[in-house]
Amino acid sequence: MAKTADVVVIGGGVVGSAIAYFLSRVKLKVTLIEKGCAAGGTSGKCDGNVAVYDALPGYGCQMNKMSQDMFPAMAEELEDDIEWTRKGSVVLIENEAEMAIAQAHCREMVAYGMPFKIMDRKEVHEDEPNLADDIVGGMEVACDGSLNPMALCNGLIKGARKFGATVFSCTAVTGISLGANGKVEKILTNKDDIATENVVNAAGVWSPEIGEMVGLDIPVKPRQGQLIVGERSLAVAKRKISEFGYIMAKFEKLDYRRNVTPEMEKYGVALVFEPTAALNFLIGSSRQFVGMDTACDLAVLRGMAQRAIRFFPVLKDIKIIRTYAGLRPYTPDHMPIISDTRIPGFYIATGHEGNGIGLSLITGQLITQMICQSAPDISLEPLRFDRFN
Ligand SMILES: Cc1cc2nc3c(=O)[nH]c(=O)nc-3n(C[C@H](O)[C@H](O)[C@H](O)COP(=O)(O)OP(=O)(O)OC[C@H]3O[C@@H](n4cnc5c(N)ncnc54)[C@H](O)[C@@H]3O)c2cc1C
Repeated sequence: MAKTADVVVIGGGVVGSAIAYFLSRVKLKVTLIEKGCAAGGTSGKCDGNVAVYDALPGYGCQMNKMSQDMFPAMAEELEDDIEWTRKGSVVLIENEAEMAIAQAHCREMVAYGMPFKIMDRKEVHEDEPNLADDIVGGMEVACDGSLNPMALCNGLIKGARKFGATVFSCTAVTGISLGANGKVEKILTNKDDIATENVVNAAGVWSPEIGEMVGLDIPVKPRQGQLIVGERSLAVAKRKISEFGYIMAKFEKLDYRRNVTPEMEKYGVALVFEPTAALNFLIGSSRQFVGMDTACDLAVLRGMAQRAIRFFPVLKDIKIIRTYAGLRPYTPDHMPIISDTRIPGFYIATGHEGNGIGLSLITGQLITQMICQSAPDISLEPLRFDRFN
């Protein structure tokens, strides 16, 4: 028997799950299709920061903050515990040269209404006593939070199902049929076909493959990131820590040079430290374009460990229990694509790079507003697909 849906969502990562949740909450008939299992892509191989600290001043930070502010209510709304906490984060400042750049950055963020504050040497060391003695200060971002991304993904899917969504896992989309009028008509899978007038491509780093099915060239590239998991240990840091150089590495600010080894520079190594609810911790990070490769590399991991020990010397005595790598869906301007397209009924929600967990809720909301033709919460201009043409 032919299957039908108002909207088919492709991809069961955090982005597709959030879209399925928001669409089914407004009573649309939604089918979510995932080729593997929920959170089996990048959303299961990442950190869980819901952060503003690593956004750029302007539209970027405002969008991150808007999405972030949706999490307290969502944590209440979902049946599953998503381990949501909001303790703020601290960005470490290594030396006086970095302090001057950080102060200017902080002033700009405050002008956009973000709760950023410079901490002097005394303040930052009182806040995190395990820090290396020579760290000169920090930048506190009071609004930042974190959660368990896999729990978020599964919680959203469970919630979507309660609102009536159908979820097919282990089902791959293999093609998209357009009608004679050029509109989306049918989604082809390796199992059944689904008749629909609307499809959302939320396939993360695989979204270009889905785009090709309708002749669209989506400029998303996989940007690999590796992570180290530490053994359960003392609370090395109370809350999420990163180094100011992380922001530089992410946005490829090549005019600023940190005092790091050539290998660290090459692999885009910069400290991020995330305590988890279980008292393990995650140490990142790296940024490399290595295609779809998700193998960890000892040279990269060594650089990450050295960088972490430079900021927290106590880490040298703590064992690593696991490492993994994920692929961030990168776009050339570091902004996601949340957009309709020239093909009526074909929507794109991808390219969230290192912020997909944090931006998942606003993405679900915006795509729902787009499909329901209601006013968007924020301007959609910077997110449009056609900005790349
Ligand atoms: C090391 C690392 C650390 C990170 N840390 C953070 C962080 O702290 N905070 C944050 O906000 N973000 C972070 N990110 C980024 C975040 O993980 C991603 O932006 C986010 O997971 C992307 O979600 P997604 O749903 O778009 O993609 P995915 O989670 O990859 O989901 C896409 C899904 O589409 C499915 N799919 C593909 N092709 C098909 C097909 N043909 N048919 C059906 N299904 C298909 C895939 O199987 C996959 O499950 C990090 C990323 C990395 C790598």
